[in-house]
Amino acid sequence: MTSTDFTQLPLKPELLQNLDSLGYHQMTPIQALSLPPVLAGKDVIGQGKTGSGKTAAFGLGVLNQLDVAFWRVQALVLCPTRELADQVTKSLRALARTQHNVKVLTLCGGMPFGPQVGSLEHGAHIIVGTPGRVEEHVRKGKLDLSHLRLLVLDEADRMLDMGFQPSLDAILEQVPARRQTLLFSATYPKHIRQLADRVMQQPVMARVEETETAPRIEQSFHWVANEDERLQALVKLLRARLPESAIVFCRTKEMTVDVAAALKAEGFTAVALNGDLEQKQRDQVLVRFANRSVSILVATDVAARGIDIEALDLVVNYQMALDTEVHLHRIGRTGRADQSGRAATLFSDKERHRLADLESYMDTQFVEQPLPEPKATNIPKPPMVTLQLDAGRKQKLRPGDILGALTGEGGIDGKSVGKIALFDQTAYVAVQRASAKQALAKLSQDKIKGRSVRVRRI
Ligand code: ADP
Ligand code: MG
Repeated sequence: MTSTDFTQLPLKPELLQNLDSLGYHQMTPIQALSLPPVLAGKDVIGQGKTGSGKTAAFGLGVLNQLDVAFWRVQALVLCPTRELADQVTKSLRALARTQHNVKVLTLCGGMPFGPQVGSLEHGAHIIVGTPGRVEEHVRKGKLDLSHLRLLVLDEADRMLDMGFQPSLDAILEQVPARRQTLLFSATYPKHIRQLADRVMQQPVMARVEETETAPRIEQSFHWVANEDERLQALVKLLRARLPESAIVFCRTKEMTVDVAAALKAEGFTAVALNGDLEQKQRDQVLVRFANRSVSILVATDVAARGIDIEALDLVVNYQMALDTEVHLHRIGRTGRADQSGRAATLFSDKERHRLADLESYMDTQFVEQPLPEPKATNIPKPPMVTLQLDAGRKQKLRPGDILGALTGEGGIDGKSVGKIALFDQTAYVAVQRASAKQALAKLSQDKIKGRSVRVRRI
């Protein structure tokens, strides 16, 4: 018997027999993770990509605890669309075919209301439906959920994306507080986590997810004895990797400032990004990092939220994230768009338990590695340089004006011009380092849109 045998589960014999005849010989990974807690009556959050077998994961939970002799609605499965509700109904019926008289009823919008009321009057054990229509039946007193024992939110992420939150809330008010709640989703964004926090009780997480992204990111873990060593280790690591674009994650604002200063003193181009920056400063930092005139961004998680920079060579966790999700989010920034990525994590003894959490979450073991050997070369300068102009959108400046001024007579090659970023009162243009002097001279001499613009190199 292996851990993916259905036979090890406390399933009713008739359900078990039927699985084989459905061609379900072994549990899929999401089933192996979620079925034990589901059958134990726990609240479970199941996350796995489409086609991973989530329906049977909750379906067996629904059917196993069903009391067929009790003619009341005992389970409600909510789905985002009618198609999905129909599929789930079909799967439930297939799973239930050896249990006699199990009544599954579908309640979806876009279908006549009256016949649904008629079917409800005949009684049902399990309701599968879309939130809007189910809520309507509840509101009109046609659907009694007071005996509900199990609530399933299938494809919860899509339900929220489609705006079903108000219907969900209304339904939730009508179901018993003592119940089992199962939530299935292909993704697990923040609004789903908030929903789970509200409607579930100490949910067990069952996720099979990272297999798609994790192998593309090569993770290394390096032990440091203390805080001095941490900084030395970071410098050594960066000297070995010499990234053109890297983010170093710190846990506090103060730390970002200290680390960025230390890296600058070592000869790296590094800037701190944290919540203390004013909007203008933040814009400038992000522009310089994105246009490749700064190699290293030292950031807090909060400050780095929402920045989307492609082709990061390296993510460094200067300190381990407090939470596994945050760690995965950090390292997910490297290796975008099917490029392989690299993430290095520094940890001290105090952070070992976080490493253990991560290992159990990813179901793997990480071997602590020595730091890579620094390269003997000088630290290369970033390929680009940023020039700042004291005019922007308010002065009706457009990217073409800047490009035109740069590449006009006596100017630089268009190929040497990088990203141009316009703001209300200022603009930034990246140029290749070798052309920086000439570009600066050209922009300072020339008029742009009939006025002379002050330009400086930052
Ligand atoms: P999901 O809801 O995760 O997108 P489904 O529950 O619709 O995935 O399952 C996808 C397909 O896999 C279905 O055709 C289903 O019958 C099949 N399936 C589910 N569990 C098993 C299993 N243990 N063994 C074989 N096939 C399975
Ligand atoms: Mg599904």
